[in-house]
Amino acid sequence: MNPLSPNQEEIQELSDDQKLQLIGGLLPRSESERFKVLASRMTPSVTQRYRVAILGGGAAGFIAAAHLTRRFPGFELFHIYDTRIPTIGVGEGTTPLFPAWIRDITGLDDTEIRRRCRMTKKHGLYFENWGTRRTPFQEDFFFNSYAYHISSPDLIELLRSYVKATVLDRRVNSVISNGREVAIGFEEEAPMTFDFVFDARGFPRELTDEHIPIREIPTNAALIRQAPPAEFNRMTRCVARPHGWVFVIPLVSHSTYGYIYNDKISSREEIAAELDFLSQHSGIPLRKETERQLRFPSFARRQLFDGALFHIGNAASFIEPLEATAIHIALFQIDVASKWLSDALIDARGEARRAPAFINGLNKLMREYTMEAALFVSWHYAAGSSFQSPFWSFAADNFRQCLETPTDAGVADRFRQYMEAARLIPEDILQLASMPPDRYLDRMKMNGRQPFFYAGFSEISFAQIGYGAGYFERQEYLSPSQVNAAV
Ligand SMILES: Cc1cc2nc3c(=O)[nH]c(=O)nc-3n(C[C@H](O)[C@H](O)[C@H](O)COP(=O)(O)OP(=O)(O)OC[C@H]3O[C@@H](n4cnc5c(N)ncnc54)[C@H](O)[C@@H]3O)c2cc1C
Repeated sequence: MNPLSPNQEEIQELSDDQKLQLIGGLLPRSESERFKVLASRMTPSVTQRYRVAILGGGAAGFIAAAHLTRRFPGFELFHIYDTRIPTIGVGEGTTPLFPAWIRDITGLDDTEIRRRCRMTKKHGLYFENWGTRRTPFQEDFFFNSYAYHISSPDLIELLRSYVKATVLDRRVNSVISNGREVAIGFEEEAPMTFDFVFDARGFPRELTDEHIPIREIPTNAALIRQAPPAEFNRMTRCVARPHGWVFVIPLVSHSTYGYIYNDKISSREEIAAELDFLSQHSGIPLRKETERQLRFPSFARRQLFDGALFHIGNAASFIEPLEATAIHIALFQIDVASKWLSDALIDARGEARRAPAFINGLNKLMREYTMEAALFVSWHYAAGSSFQSPFWSFAADNFRQCLETPTDAGVADRFRQYMEAARLIPEDILQLASMPPDRYLDRMKMNGRQPFFYAGFSEISFAQIGYGAGYFERQEYLSPSQVNAAV
């Protein structure tokens, strides 16, 4: 069975728990609420006192530490990070998976979470200058759900109070796993061994044979500046520009502008000049003194998990921020990891969970999740933008080449299927993204169509991008009754 697009018969053969596991592992944005149900059902009562370490004190490290504290209260947790090494934290967008997760972990309601972390609510993405149509378009979250714009340092401060672990401020020099236990070497202190380790130490220093480079992504750098709080704060603005695109993340205390570009095509000076131009043109002060440049790799680890050592967050995979997938993927990774732990530690099938075939399957699932997200993001560039420039020619050609000669044929095949499924959704019914989920799913089933999800993205997200960017042909206008009948 292909876990990313099981067919109806295959789903019917599964037990309730297997269905939940399948859905939970592949949470579509629309179903983030199910996460809560799933999480409560999956909380195991592990009695043996396993020693578990989380390496890294960035957003991913704290997400893992808070998640494990909540799910596995019996674990002896160690949270190890070097405070001399900075975390990323640029001002991040999230997906609807995140509010569901953080409510579950903290027990706080939406208002209190936003107050404590100075977040704004995010209802989707607002694209300007993208594609052939020359008009802005939106990608609304499915079924009226929402996410947050967050500041990682504020998030970390909140999560800190939900982590119960021995905190060690020290530099890790080596991590050696034999798939049964993991030895951690430090700069100065004596080594320690653990039953399980979550490595969330951020980007690898360089990509090696352990990493699959993701050439689908046409960008590799960001120039970030801060500005006063933005008036338009219900969506992340994604503004195409000649050298790439600019995100505007609106927080309560400030907003962050990030120019995402390719440093092999454009220089930092060109990007800084563009930010100056945007500042003058819009009248919004993009403060030069807050400017910082970040370079990022696009990759997925071949092996994220070996039976004892998990990789999570930027240590496991990364693609550019266009669809805000990094924290989303980190939540997916920790969810898969904790389900594996639940099974392997309390179930009679534990040993089977450690079989190489099973571990390989899990790695494939997690690796492909990032690669699917990458192909979806790459597609956003396919119809070009209002600008004819070396960057946009490169980005559009790059997508076409990647689809023709894919890094992973299965990922590309599913992408095509998904794109064609989205093309069948007439443009005028996109408003039904806001219909109640049960009604939508019932209608899909009535028409013999099983909804499936691509790296957590719904067909509706595909349709919104496909039409918005002008990649799909505009369809005839439908009356409201035809709209209802068509879903
Ligand atoms: C330009 C840009 C924009 C982004 N926008 C978004 C967005 O909109 N949405 C989104 O979801 N994500 C976004 N991200 C990604 C997001 O910022 C990260 O995914 C997230 O912060 C998680 O990072 P991390 O914890 O994996 O790594 P980091 O923040 O790099 O943290 C690594 C941690 O490991 C510790 N460490 C490192 N080496 C050692 C060592 N040897 N010993 C001990 N400790 C060590 C460090 O001290 C640090 O605590 C963006 C990233 C970039 C670059």
